[in-house]
Amino acid sequence: MTASVLPSSPGALSKARWDDIAPFFDELAERPIDPSSIEGWLQAWSTLEELVTEAAAVAMIAYTIDTSDPDKEADHLRFSTEIMPKMEERSVELARRLVESGYATPELATTLARFRTAIAIFREANVPIFAELEELSARYQRITGSMTVEWEGQERPLPQLQPFLKSPDRAVRERAFRAATQPYIEQHGPLAELFDRMFELRQRAARNAGFDNFRDYIFPAKFRFDYSPADCERFHDAGERTVAPAVERMLEIRRKRLGLDALRPWDLAVDPYRPSPLRPFGDVEEFVGKARRVFERVDPVLGNEFQTMIDEGLLDLDSRKGKAPGGYCETLHHRGRPFIFMNAVGLVDDVMTLLHEAGHAFHAFASHRQPFIWQRHPGSEAAELASMSMELLAGRHLAQPTGYFNPDDHRSAWLEHLEDILLSLVHIASVDAFQTWIYTSGQGQDAAARDAAWLRIRSRFERGVDWSGLEQERVARWYRQLHIFMYPFYYIEYGIAQIGALQIWRNSLKDPVRAVGAYREALALGAVRTLPELYRTAGARLSFDGETIGPLVELVESEIAKIRAELPGNGRS
Ligand SMILES: [Zn+2]
Repeated sequence: MTASVLPSSPGALSKARWDDIAPFFDELAERPIDPSSIEGWLQAWSTLEELVTEAAAVAMIAYTIDTSDPDKEADHLRFSTEIMPKMEERSVELARRLVESGYATPELATTLARFRTAIAIFREANVPIFAELEELSARYQRITGSMTVEWEGQERPLPQLQPFLKSPDRAVRERAFRAATQPYIEQHGPLAELFDRMFELRQRAARNAGFDNFRDYIFPAKFRFDYSPADCERFHDAGERTVAPAVERMLEIRRKRLGLDALRPWDLAVDPYRPSPLRPFGDVEEFVGKARRVFERVDPVLGNEFQTMIDEGLLDLDSRKGKAPGGYCETLHHRGRPFIFMNAVGLVDDVMTLLHEAGHAFHAFASHRQPFIWQRHPGSEAAELASMSMELLAGRHLAQPTGYFNPDDHRSAWLEHLEDILLSLVHIASVDAFQTWIYTSGQGQDAAARDAAWLRIRSRFERGVDWSGLEQERVARWYRQLHIFMYPFYYIEYGIAQIGALQIWRNSLKDPVRAVGAYREALALGAVRTLPELYRTAGARLSFDGETIGPLVELVESEIAKIRAELPGNGRS
């Protein structure tokens, strides 16, 4: 068989079926390899994976921008349920050839460790299981993406209720909260049933691979080589002991400031210091233009990269009907470019989400210099370090003239962000504790037991909010957490990364140039170092314990106190 010529661009694969792609893998599986030819073989394999993953990414992006187009859905499904699982299977076969060849370089050490693990846990029988899980994920997206509410006579997608959750009028907030939760309460049955099937498939895949449960499977499957389930439990404990009390203190100040007897869940998003929510930008153009200037101030190279994304149409940021919910940054591996998707409605949260996704984008730009695709994308613990650090590093530049806010608005926005960090840490701990319970308690298949466990775990971590009479609404919260459905156990990474990002931020308070330099150095390493080494390069320690987390929480609390004292109407006026 002669060497088949790879397509020159991912566009040539946009309508491909697996049968069109398989011959390239056949050729790589059969081509003789020896020490002199293995680099070329690796390069060909890497390029093939770049082409296919980029074609899959382009199909996914097109679908999430327009979930109502059946052709786009079919293209996305063909890649995600047919092509990608088959490619993964063939990749394991090629990885086996590489590992057996004995070829190794220091820059490939982390890649080889991943390959060895992937080979060890791979089971033929799991290929159709993961393909079905992809289909179920698409169903979850379809159900949640088509959720709308009647609001003031207009049918709106859920993200558009966000501004009303911040209304100074408590009745409006309550109405918005109930309206945004109602579709999840109505879909409780179908979503619980969908999860039943996901649970069953995941546990079966884990058992097929020789594990007791899906939690034990996920540690090697996600290449969590540098921490254990016990570390995660230490993180939960630290969340409960050091973060939850800080959140409770913070919410008590909010309660007094709002003049309420008790904080209800619809009282958490309103700004207690100003009559109406901040509107940092009027339209997408202003949103993007200011972001570009902010990144320029963080580092001119990052500013240029963001400009490239503007020039090449790699941003789709505003909320429109038919778009999938949420936000993401996807890498186009062949072009070496990222793409950012969001549902912006004009709030401070949107600015923070863009900073976050841009951190991922800068990671994609920086790591593209690594020669092989597997050397570029580290685990999510390092990926989220890139994004969450950017939220904090860019924070100081959000004030005018560069950014979005006048000095007082900047204080408000920053206060909201710091409060969100503490709130999110306890949320993360609860989501991870809940997923751990689901897959290890022996009762995860029971929908009612799952809901009861969620309530129990939430009350351990979420203090200072009165949920009485809102049990259904509180339960609905986990059905809204798409990770639990679509990306199981992808959540504690945010907590690990937040602890890292707070350390990088602490460094930047002393020496911003040096902190950003170390950050960029870590990003450029891609995946060629271990997780603790990547953190060390960025200027942080990979940590799960109260001794590290406690002082960081104190730093955030003291920063919050300082900002509060400076806000108008709070002693300064
Ligand atoms: Zn992220």
